[in-house]
This record gives sequence, structure tokens and C-alpha cells, in this order.
Amino acid sequence: MTSKEVGKNKQTLLTKKRRPIVIGGPCSAETEKQVLETGRRIAATGKVDIFRAGIWKPRTRPGSFEGVGEKGLPWCQKVKESTGLPITVEVAKTAHIEACLKHDIDILWIGARTTVNPFVVQELADALRGVDIPVLVKNPINPDLALWLGAVERFQKAGIQELGVIHRGFSNLSEKYYRNRPQWQIPLEFMRRMPDIPMINDPSHICGRRDILQEVAQKALDLGFDGLMIESHIDPDQALSDAQQQITPEVLGQLITDLVLREDYEDEPLKQSKIESLRQEINNIDEELINLLSNRMKVAREIGRYKKKNNMTILQQRRWNEIIERSKLQAARSGLSEAFILNFISAIHDESIDQQEQVYKDV
Ligand code: PEP
Ligand code: MN
Repeated sequence: MTSKEVGKNKQTLLTKKRRPIVIGGPCSAETEKQVLETGRRIAATGKVDIFRAGIWKPRTRPGSFEGVGEKGLPWCQKVKESTGLPITVEVAKTAHIEACLKHDIDILWIGARTTVNPFVVQELADALRGVDIPVLVKNPINPDLALWLGAVERFQKAGIQELGVIHRGFSNLSEKYYRNRPQWQIPLEFMRRMPDIPMINDPSHICGRRDILQEVAQKALDLGFDGLMIESHIDPDQALSDAQQQITPEVLGQLITDLVLREDYEDEPLKQSKIESLRQEINNIDEELINLLSNRMKVAREIGRYKKKNNMTILQQRRWNEIIERSKLQAARSGLSEAFILNFISAIHDESIDQQEQVYKDV
């Protein structure tokens, strides 16, 4: 966390000395009793720093529960009064911001379906000009890093000082294991580009189910994330939204307790030098891999010249199918995941096609 505190001149809600920042609370505020009891039990775990509740719910299909609206905000205020926990609520319209400010909400968050739309994000940023409130920006539902960075920049330009981001995964039609594919390389690249913005992982919306929340939360911490946002309901199966992914406050408390906190030790030379020789080995292997790829492309260009001379198409479907089948067999034999090998071989194949296209263009 220390690097994240550089440039900040006050102790703020989104930074703290000890990782992780934990945000917990129901997907949706449903009734006053449910909100107050969740708040009480969440606070009793002693593991949660910020209470969340959805007041206006952006549902994918019409007819689902769309949130209780403004009347839920005083319930959240009561949680703050009785537990001392700061409150965060999702806003998607200027009117939501006004209502939250009126009810003393501490942190606003921008949902994934809002981040995709620069018009709406700009409108929200404009509404916050001159307001001193922290804002969390969820990743857009599509895997577009620029859109995510852009949304954060709009709030920065509007003068918001305290910003954080939430990684909640990306929609994908072929995804089976997760509800939203994590695509970890995207938040990691975000962290590289904007190292001062705290990165919070939302395993609830990534997983869409309870049984794998722990492994995703642990992975996020091992990748250097600063916090977690996890949905919690007093009676998860009866929740009006996202029932399958919610857990009771007590299960949430246990999940946080069971996390292993590891350090990166970037500033400890002794620990670093122990892995240095292995890293050197990795560098050598990477170099060999790139040389091999370069040789492979030479052969691909040679084939390209032959195909061109004989007026053959670049892509020959039967050959491509054969490559896929061979690679799957090899993946199984070498203990590598089929998905990884298929991605890898597709990337190589794309490059071969580009190289052959270049041969076709050459005069
Ligand atoms: C939520 O946090 O309940 C929510 C609606 O999330 P997202 O915007 O990530 O879908
Ligand atoms: Mn939800």
C-alpha cells in the first residue's frame, strides 16, 4: 500500500496501511430490517471496512427486482449510525448522486453497465464537480481497458481526488466456469498504468456462485490487489438479486480470516536474489521461444510464397483443424491447459496469416 499513498496528503477511506480494504453488504437493499441486520452482523465480524448496498439495480432484463430506490438510503444511514461503517452505493444517474449526497453516503460507485458509456460517465463526473467524495469505478462489462481508464480520467478531470477501481470481470458468451470472465491481464495492466489508484476485486460478480469465491479472492490478493468487494445477505438463497453468489456475514468474515496475506518483498534484496537465478532461466527460455517463433514464421513465409505462385488461398480449413486437434493432444500430454494452448496456437496462427498476407502483397 505504501506506493499507493504517495501523493495523498490525508488519511482517506480507500487507503489504509493493512491490506485488504474489505467492502461487504447485500447486492440490494430489500427491506429496512434486512439492511440493518446485515449491517449489524457484518460489523460484528470485525473484518469489513465499508458497507455496500445496491439501491437502484441495473438489471440486464426488465421485470427483475430493480431496487427499492431512494427510500433505502435512510436504512443505510442507520447502518452507519449504529456501526460506524462508511457506506457505498451505486449511482448511474445525476438524480442518484443528488439523493446519495442528501443522505450522507460516503462513497459512490459506478457500475459496470455505466462505465461502458462515456456520455453517462461524463454527466456523472460533471455532477460531481466541486464535491469532495470518493468514487469507485467498476470495469466496463466488455474487456476494454481504455474505456475503464477513460472513465477514471473523466472523474479525475472533474476534480475527484479519491478514486478507486473495482475488477468485476467481463461478459463472455462462451464462459462456463465464471459468471464474468476475470481476464486478470486487464486489471494488472490497469495497475501498471495507474499505480496510485487502489484496485479492488469483486469475486461475487466474477464467480456468480459461492463455492469459488475464496479462490478468486485469494488470487486477487496474490496478484497485489488492494481490496475486495463481496456481497453478503442474511438469507442468501432468498435474496431478490444475485442470490447464488451471496454469502452470510459470518461466512464472509470466515472467508476474510482464511485469506493468506503475502508480500511482494520488492525491496528485500535477499529474498529477491534467491529467485533471481530462476528468473534468469525464464528469460533464457523466453528468448529461445521467440527465436523458435521467428523460425516458424520463416517457414510460414516460404509456404506463403508457394501458395501465392500456385494461386492458393492463405487459409486452408482442413490444415487449421488438424493443427487444433494436434495441439489439444499435446496440451493433454504436457500438463498444460487446453484453453491456454488453443489461445497460444491461435495467436501464432494469426501471426502466420499476417506474415503470409505480407508475402501476397510483396511484388
Ligand atoms: C453490483 O455490484 O451489485 C452490480 C450491479 O455490479 P456490476 O455493475 O459489477 O454488475
Ligand atoms: Mn450484485
